[in-house]
Amino acid sequence: MKIIEILKKTRPISYEFSPPRTADGIPAVLEALDELKVYRPDFVSVTYGAGGSTRAFTEEITVQAKKVAGVEVMAHLTCVGQTKEEIHGVLERLDAAGVENVIALRGDPPRGETEFVPVAGGFPHATDLLSHIKANFKFGVAAACYPEGHTESVDLDADLDYIKLKVEKGADFLVTQLFYDNRYYFDFVERAKAAGIDVPIVPGVLPVLSSAQVRRFTTLCGSTIPSDLGKLLDKYADDDSSARDMGVEYATAQVRELWDQGVPGVHFYVLNRSYSVSRILDNLALPGHQRED
Ligand SMILES: Cc1cc2nc3c(=O)[nH]c(=O)nc-3n(C[C@H](O)[C@H](O)[C@H](O)COP(=O)(O)OP(=O)(O)OC[C@H]3O[C@@H](n4cnc5c(N)ncnc54)[C@H](O)[C@@H]3O)c2cc1C
Repeated sequence: MKIIEILKKTRPISYEFSPPRTADGIPAVLEALDELKVYRPDFVSVTYGAGGSTRAFTEEITVQAKKVAGVEVMAHLTCVGQTKEEIHGVLERLDAAGVENVIALRGDPPRGETEFVPVAGGFPHATDLLSHIKANFKFGVAAACYPEGHTESVDLDADLDYIKLKVEKGADFLVTQLFYDNRYYFDFVERAKAAGIDVPIVPGVLPVLSSAQVRRFTTLCGSTIPSDLGKLLDKYADDDSSARDMGVEYATAQVRELWDQGVPGVHFYVLNRSYSVSRILDNLALPGHQRED
């Protein structure tokens, strides 16, 4: 089923997994999915690794999640390091395997590179990939958006113009970059509406797993760490277990506020670890997403 149809019927809870580096890691990812399945997610997505190393497993896990776990899926696809023909081939395989949803992304520069440079004959932007998908396939298509602006954007207005272009090119809905201060999300949604963007904007939430991890991720994607969270990250800088428990409480409060304010759904960045998202969903006890053993 296309995810936009799910969004019309309910407020989906979704999980994002990442493919392992080697085939040996596939069972652990599927195990994490199995552990989180008891909260009845509406769909799961699988990231598409930069640099080529993990791409094959993205397709495999996406297909397995749909066939074996019986969950609706969304495959991530980026423009990194592949020609249009190669990307077309990935889309054909996903289509043939029964995958109905794709999130079209440009992707980050491969490790060790600071600037995204499209390969000769590749797509320079997510919008180009989106146009190609819409012209050649019947996938439901999502795209990324950035409540605090994308790191390469000149300013928030220019950023919003390109987000709008993604919707004009056919993105059915948007999923946000992680943020730790809900005000950025609410402000973004308001600006997007004022700019005529009328598709669902699903917040992406990454529970803190350790201080180092959050500092690294937020540096990379340019998301702000609010001062109250910053103090807690300092406090638990050398204590990952307490940082993770604090992260569960922080994300519970964050999602509760988002949910109460009527967000169209919540997308959890799981990072293949089920513990935090399970505790958060236990705490929230959202209708239709209580643990089912
Ligand atoms: C929900 C989500 C999932 C993600 N999943 C993955 C993943 O699986 N694999 C991965 O490698 N990365 C992933 N990313 C990271 C993403 O690839 C990076 O943030 C990347 O730097 C930008 O991707 P984009 O699709 O937003 O690119 P684009 O939309 O191409 O934007 C990149 C920059 O170019 C500007 N821009 C956009 N369109 C145009 C245009 N037509 N002309 C000129 N400038 C333009 C934008 O303002 C922005 O500054 C994900 C991000 C999110 C939010």
